[in-house]
Amino acid sequence: MGMIKKEEIRGRQDAEGKIVCADCMEDDDWKDVREADLFTDDHVEKSDDLFFCDLCGNQL
Ligand SMILES: [Zn+2]
Repeated sequence: MGMIKKEEIRGRQDAEGKIVCADCMEDDDWKDVREADLFTDDHVEKSDDLFFCDLCGNQL
């Protein structure tokens, strides 16, 4: 697994498929995370889709 800077992380997908933005992620969300679950700057900017946090509704 490569290294990802925390400030490049915009959010993650949880086990239920919900999207949680970095602001809404709690300590456990940061610890228990796989690279494949993360949304990074790169991922969001290269995607044609828009991603929204399921908790606060903000765009990632
Ligand atoms: Zn949020």
